[in-house]
Amino acid sequence: MIPFFKIDPEIEQHSELVLEKCRDVFSEIDKVAEYNQLKVQKAFIDNGISESHFVSSTGYGYGDRGRDTLDKVWAQVFCAEDALVRHNFVSGTHTLSTALFGVLRPGDNMLCVTGTPYDTIHGVIGITGQGMGSLWDFGINYSEVSLKDGKPDIDGIYDAVNSDTTMVYIQRSRGYSLRPSLTVDDIEEIVETAKKKNPDVIVMVDNCYGEFVEKREPIEVGADLIAGSMIKNAGGGIARTGGYIAGRADLIEKCAYRLTTPGLGKEVGASLGTNRELYMGLFYAPHTVCEALKSAVYISSLFSSFGYDTTPKYNEKRGDIVQCLGLENEESLVAFCQGIQSGSPIDSYLTPEPWDMPGYDSKVVMAAGAFTLGSSIELSADAPIREPYYAWIQGGLNFPSAKICALLAAQHMKDIGKLKGV
Ligand SMILES: *Cc1c(COP(=O)(O)O)cnc(C)c1O
Repeated sequence: MIPFFKIDPEIEQHSELVLEKCRDVFSEIDKVAEYNQLKVQKAFIDNGISESHFVSSTGYGYGDRGRDTLDKVWAQVFCAEDALVRHNFVSGTHTLSTALFGVLRPGDNMLCVTGTPYDTIHGVIGITGQGMGSLWDFGINYSEVSLKDGKPDIDGIYDAVNSDTTMVYIQRSRGYSLRPSLTVDDIEEIVETAKKKNPDVIVMVDNCYGEFVEKREPIEVGADLIAGSMIKNAGGGIARTGGYIAGRADLIEKCAYRLTTPGLGKEVGASLGTNRELYMGLFYAPHTVCEALKSAVYISSLFSSFGYDTTPKYNEKRGDIVQCLGLENEESLVAFCQGIQSGSPIDSYLTPEPWDMPGYDSKVVMAAGAFTLGSSIELSADAPIREPYYAWIQGGLNFPSAKICALLAAQHMKDIGKLKGV
């Protein structure tokens, strides 16, 4: 019997069975988490982190040791020459935008090789929003290589890269699509293909949702620049805002000139007391990602046991923390999200309803009961109300809390007579 919550015994029975099935997958996830934890811990030790690194700076932020050393720790963890880790990045999109504007110049050619990128990047590139100061407005050309059967089209990439290509852009996570996430092996194959055609090409990876999912990170297989959000994997559920860029030192310098000003770069920027949470977030990140991955695997396995389509499958290799569930109709999607919300530590008393969210062409229902607004390393679910009625789920600060949310989601579906399989 599950304490404190009312879950139908039949649902609980499914849960017991799938937990048994997930055991081997969980043990693999544990191994990756342990490896990554030691990697992070060694970087803290090698850089001699002490409480003095948590001291707050104000004003221009000159000589902020904590901030500067965090860049070094970060660089070591991600096997980069340098890094730019700042609470001043307002979101993942801002971080990626800073990197793109930092590195690209008028006349340069950017080639995205993983199909059309994540929605919020369209305005940055100028796929939409031309005239707002997008890359397009500054004369930076964009083209893309579509995915082939949901996978990177290696032959297509080989054909598309040439001596004029300035940057090859890769999105590791599936984002809000149904294509599989890229593994680090996939990224390696793309890097090798692109650099064979043009050894000088800059390979940049949108690393959102991918950090610490595997033992290796993209820079280890030849990427030149990676970027991500602190309210996803890399902030460990602790960081309240921010982003990071890591990679080649000359590129990081350019990114820093874009974030602050040409000439000042990394030397300025008051940390305002955020150093401690950024250090602690990185320290927690391998463990938190492990919990989020177990949550995704469990949810996949549980809903597949009820007869729903899930992607990835519980035992499929993952390159990110995102889980998709095909819930087949609007009522189920809404009940699912309401169930997730009802079990959240924050805002459990709210009832998510579908609404016309700006920027979407259908209604969307979202569940998010998080300590940090919009944090998606905390358990969250989003679902556009349209065919094929899929929900995108990610996060989970710890497995038991995500597990009960999943059970409540199933219970809500059962309560309206929509849960299959029981
Ligand atoms: C979340 C995400 C972004 C953008 O991050 P925001 O913090 O939402 O601006 C970009 N790319 C991918 C793949 C993401 O998952």
